Amino acid sequence: MPTESDQTTALLIGGEQVAGAGAPIPVENPYTTETIVEVAAASPEQVEAAVAAAREAWPAWARMPAGERCELLHEVARRLREDAEGLARTMTAEGGKPLVENRDELEWTAAAFDYYAEIGRDHAGRVIPPIESTQLAMVVKDPLGVVGCIVPWNYPLLLLAWKVAPALAAGNCVVCKPSELTPLSTLMLAGPFGHLPAGVVNLVAGAGEVGAAIASHPDVDCVAFTGSVATGKKVAAACTARMARMNLEMGGKDAFIVCADVAPQLEVAARGGAWAAFLNAGQVCTSAERFYIAEELFDDYVSAFVGHTRGLVLGDPFEVATDIGPMVSDPQRAKVVAQLEAATATGAEVLVGGDRGGAERGHFLSPAVVVGAAPDSALLREETFGPVAPIVPVASLDEAIELANGTEFGLGANVYTGDLENAVRCMRELRAGTVWINDPLTDNDAGPFGGFKQSGLGRELGREGLEAFQETKHVHMESRIERKEWWYPYREYGAG
Ligand code: NAD
Repeated sequence: MPTESDQTTALLIGGEQVAGAGAPIPVENPYTTETIVEVAAASPEQVEAAVAAAREAWPAWARMPAGERCELLHEVARRLREDAEGLARTMTAEGGKPLVENRDELEWTAAAFDYYAEIGRDHAGRVIPPIESTQLAMVVKDPLGVVGCIVPWNYPLLLLAWKVAPALAAGNCVVCKPSELTPLSTLMLAGPFGHLPAGVVNLVAGAGEVGAAIASHPDVDCVAFTGSVATGKKVAAACTARMARMNLEMGGKDAFIVCADVAPQLEVAARGGAWAAFLNAGQVCTSAERFYIAEELFDDYVSAFVGHTRGLVLGDPFEVATDIGPMVSDPQRAKVVAQLEAATATGAEVLVGGDRGGAERGHFLSPAVVVGAAPDSALLREETFGPVAPIVPVASLDEAIELANGTEFGLGANVYTGDLENAVRCMRELRAGTVWINDPLTDNDAGPFGGFKQSGLGRELGREGLEAFQETKHVHMESRIERKEWWYPYREYGAG
């Protein structure tokens, strides 16, 4: 058994907290750059044991009346809120996201469990018109079995909740793997999940090889994944090889359009843009990464954006005054800096930010506003995942929509306009899973979330988020046992 001091590094397998038997992984605090603690990854045998525990727990969990599962999921939400401060502080220490944002994340995480507690007991399929009046025909939703949940580091608990809550509500058991950069808050969930039957939720730590072992395991019926496109494609290949179900949430390159009619509220659109670009140091899958601004507003918009950006406070993510914390890791920061440097080498100009912002330690990148980026630069075409806002003037809404739709991604898109015709056009024509009009990046548990094109496959949240973890069965029932006239022999049927 783990001792008191290493409780939060223990895995949860079959209801038991056990130390990982795999390689130790240092968990770094991105602000101090010190190692908080080492977490031993799950060994291949422990991954086997976690999947086996979930499989064993599944029949009873699937049979449990939905109303009882509902109560247990509400209890998860209650316990999450009870532990919220400790969890938020751990997320801040391991991820670098400001504490205020992590407190919000905890509340959204709990809310997702409350939402699916209710959605899960609300319906289990539908009745459809039968072929004859003596029959009953139904579409029945069955659980899938064992769901592997693999998540990244930027919203460790929220993205896990978007998988675990609906998967459990639908009657599945889960094996969860957090990112190797942020395993601590997830391993703390042994408490909030502690009242569930053993094996219903299993938590294993580790890097890519543990994720790959889950994704390719023959007893994992579905893989719910959030992460990069490159990893998502590997998960997809592993699932396809055995026809396992998959739900994939991947990268984005969200556009942010400001229409000409917004002139009187330009300051609001600039502040909304800065928040959408720099929230969590730009490490949000739906970060605004390309700004298309009506050319008549361009200069004033850029000036308002730069002015607002200059006032943002970089610093200790535990400090109340901090707007932007460090990026999660040095390699992540280096990737963003390389993209910025490549853009400036081909003519882009950084108007503010793009350096360490005076910080002496920590993976800081001060929020950058960029103009003049070449249309084919990586900064305007590939995911950046850092605090960089490239701003581009456009001659018309047609041009803005065409550019917005011009990448391989299609996760989200933002629009500022008070013009109804513009709003309806954007809603219809933007090829993105979420279109936010005048309120960037607001999530809604009832609103399905996911991507067009390479940004993903399937949806989380909403009813779609529950159906992602259900198999569909058509049940055709005849109330009388009788011979049908169209059976053999055809000489009687044909003659009739
Ligand atoms: P990543 O793809 O590197 O890792 C994601 C997870 O997959 C981690 O837990 C990792 O250990 C695991 N993994 C790595 N190799 C694997 C393999 N071969 N098989 C199975 N699992 C494997 O992503 P990241 O750097 O942790 O996160 C950033 C990315 O996540 C960005 O691209 C971002 O856009 C994306 N993201 C998407 C959404 C969304 O909802 N669409 C939300 C947040 C983040």
